[in-house]
Amino acid sequence: MEDLSLKEIKTFKDLEDEVVSSNKCCACGACVAYCEIQGFDTIEMEGYTPKFKSDKNAENCKECGLCFYICPQTEPLTDKLNKLYLIEDELGHIADVISAKTTNAKIKGVGQDGGIVSTILSYLFDSNQIDAAIVSEYDKNFQPIPTLIDNKVDLIKSAGTRYSISSNILPLKDLYAMAEKIIEEHSNVYDIDQLSLAFVGTPCQCRAISKMKLLNVKPAHVINYVFSLFCFENFDYAKLMEIIKSKTKIEPSQIKKAQIKKNMFITSKDGKTVEINIKDLDDAVRSHCNECDEFVGRFSDLSIGASGAPTGYSMIIMRSEKAQNLIDSVISEGLIEKYKIPAEQYSEWKPKKINWFRKMTALKTKK
Ligand SMILES: Cc1cc2nc3c(=O)[nH]c(=O)nc-3n(C[C@H](O)[C@H](O)[C@H](O)COP(=O)(O)OP(=O)(O)OC[C@H]3O[C@@H](n4cnc5c(N)ncnc54)[C@H](O)[C@@H]3O)c2cc1C
Repeated sequence: MEDLSLKEIKTFKDLEDEVVSSNKCCACGACVAYCEIQGFDTIEMEGYTPKFKSDKNAENCKECGLCFYICPQTEPLTDKLNKLYLIEDELGHIADVISAKTTNAKIKGVGQDGGIVSTILSYLFDSNQIDAAIVSEYDKNFQPIPTLIDNKVDLIKSAGTRYSISSNILPLKDLYAMAEKIIEEHSNVYDIDQLSLAFVGTPCQCRAISKMKLLNVKPAHVINYVFSLFCFENFDYAKLMEIIKSKTKIEPSQIKKAQIKKNMFITSKDGKTVEINIKDLDDAVRSHCNECDEFVGRFSDLSIGASGAPTGYSMIIMRSEKAQNLIDSVISEGLIEKYKIPAEQYSEWKPKKINWFRKMTALKTKK
């Protein structure tokens, strides 16, 4: 652990002043999840904003500083993390890059791009490599709901992309209750430390998880797989829905799928697809995204997105041997199908894709 003891210990008040008040908060929920798990009864999420529950609750703050250090928007642990994740540039450590798509017809029908995330999670459940996963479901108005699931059936409800904040770290606080249930159901599991969890999130959320793991903040210690979604920008749910309603006349409750391919495409439940110019969404972009320098998600086992992929496929960046072994297993089980690179493109295919990710990251950073 970095020698934090020599530095001034920061508190949630510092987080409010340095991150929340200056609109840098990405609403991942890490600070609130941590504080609630400790039972400090101090802060809560009001919509997408972490805050003291009340002035009286503010007195409960133990000034432990953990909420500040695990926040993905604060600096202190960056050098340590970069070393740990072998990060030397804007894309992070790359062990391999492939393009692939699911072979599962059900997931194909609901997945955002190649259905890779849901297929891998399904495999991890089937092969008993995870007991639970944190994903994002959505309500009847297409609003993301961060959710902890303990079975692959619920994966179908979580597939697809919601282009607004899903505070995916918040459900970590529910893991203790879920652990009790899992322990009750499995005779060979007797302690939360034996559980294995997968986490899906945006690059900023994965950064928070990496900080929690670095500082051994429980129960993030049982997260064994971190899957980062590529992310150019994220949107404020209410503002995005207002724009979608006014531009497409489609009510949030009638949205079947939202997809960004240069512009945004909204498909309604009755099969109509309407295009919205991406520039028309500028007012709904979350301000923290304007300062973010991560497109692919450096602090992860796998980074997954569509950018640069052949139609219907996803790009997969593998960060380690463990990630390569996972992808090899999913391919050899026939669960995903690897894109066959045409022979004449073979030598330049991977460098070209990596250059494309650099270009997208530069574009995001410039924006
Ligand atoms: C806000 C946002 C912006 C994105 N921008 C880009 C981009 O610019 N370029 C690009 O190539 N890809 C982008 N992606 C990723 C892309 O949309 C797909 O999620 C990715 O390609 C995986 O597709 P899949 O078919 O493998 O995943 P699926 O099998 O459909 O699974 C998707 C997974 O993502 C989770 N998820 C959905 N919405 C959210 C959310 N809001 N927050 C956290 N988790 C969520 C789901 O629960 C599910 O586990 C973005 C994703 C998000 C959430």
